[in-house]
Amino acid sequence: MVNYHDAYSGILDFIRMGQTLARRSRDRGTKLWEEQRFDEAIHAWETAMKRTTKASDRFDIFGNLCMALCDMGKYRNALTYAGQQIELANKVNNPLMISQAYFHLALCNERVSEYSKSVTYCRYSLQVEDAGDKLFGWIHFCLGNAYFGLSEFPKAWKSYSKSLSLARTRKDVLLEMLVQSRLGYLFSQLVDHETGLGYCSKAWDSVNSFGEGSPIVKYKRQIAVFLAIPYRKTGSYNEAMDLCEDAMKVAMLYGDRQVQARCLMVFADIHRKRSDFERASPRYESAYSILSETGDRLGQAEVLGGMAKTATCTRNFEQAIELNTKSLDIVQKIGNKLEMLRCHARLQALYKVSGETSLSHRHFTVVRQLLDEMELFCGVCDEIIGEKPEKLDALDCGHFIHNRCIVHLSRSTLGRSGKIRPCPACRRKSSMNPTL
Ligand SMILES: [Zn+2]
Ligand SMILES: [Zn+2]
Repeated sequence: MVNYHDAYSGILDFIRMGQTLARRSRDRGTKLWEEQRFDEAIHAWETAMKRTTKASDRFDIFGNLCMALCDMGKYRNALTYAGQQIELANKVNNPLMISQAYFHLALCNERVSEYSKSVTYCRYSLQVEDAGDKLFGWIHFCLGNAYFGLSEFPKAWKSYSKSLSLARTRKDVLLEMLVQSRLGYLFSQLVDHETGLGYCSKAWDSVNSFGEGSPIVKYKRQIAVFLAIPYRKTGSYNEAMDLCEDAMKVAMLYGDRQVQARCLMVFADIHRKRSDFERASPRYESAYSILSETGDRLGQAEVLGGMAKTATCTRNFEQAIELNTKSLDIVQKIGNKLEMLRCHARLQALYKVSGETSLSHRHFTVVRQLLDEMELFCGVCDEIIGEKPEKLDALDCGHFIHNRCIVHLSRSTLGRSGKIRPCPACRRKSSMNPTL
């Protein structure tokens, strides 16, 4: 007679053994990932996935795979796993899981320049109250990056500020460093290199306080590239070169495509600035091919912009127009207004040189429109922000004003009530941001 009980427990043992093996593979994957052995980590996680049917384990592995692939610049593969994760979360109908999965989806979309989608997914992710814990700061960070991708600077600044204060409350040093880097990048893009350099240097000092064995060290190369940008823009080429040369070496060692591409862009820009076009061109081309491979479309547009500037410097005006038009086409699709503005401004100048006045004027009109849309005017003096290097301050509403104009703001009749000062741009009551 068959003992059903024994047979059943045999199956249970078999399943349990499978789960243990799966968990072992999963943990091995995590360890390998921390050691930056990315390919091996992914293999271990994929093996673990085959061995388990347990929803919560599969969910965690999907998340790990998604994050690791993002770190490696394999955004499209990461998107596939994020999609599978959200499917699973919806199936088990667990709000916390749904929130986490939407965060991963937002993250991958931001990396492939799908900024509007990323904003939507971040908002879904934020709807879950329980997600509060560690995740909230990271969601606001991702939201900031997505708004930044759309050139919605006040919203980006607000999201970053929120993320920074959550990181500080939770003592999440990694998040704090990453937000500082991005804030530095934001100020650099608005041509306030001093503030940009300040934020990036803080992140750089923090990351250097960790020993070589710390898992945080793998973010060092990323932070180095962000610090190199304000250095490059202020003409400190040697500092920028040194940072990127070191970052490039490590990035090549670990197969970090994103950092490789960004370093190549810094090298190319510096060579172009030094009028060494023969060195600039191949670096732009290498960067472009990596960025096409990873799917970073904003990066591709920026490289085309750099190539267009090279063509202009070497008086290949026709080629310059072609490259700018190609760059414009990409940024229009992804909705990055700042890069759109730069393309239009370059085209305006090029058409002016070639005597095509009406075309030049058309581009000029769009430049004005974009400035208005991005709210890039100082609310006090009404001058354009980002036209020349100037120190800026952000108000709580996210609007930027010149640092030199703050005096007028505090002296205004409406601004007498202690710390509460109104923002002239949006007329909302706004206190000065305590983080600045
Ligand atoms: Zn001003
Ligand atoms: Zn405002």
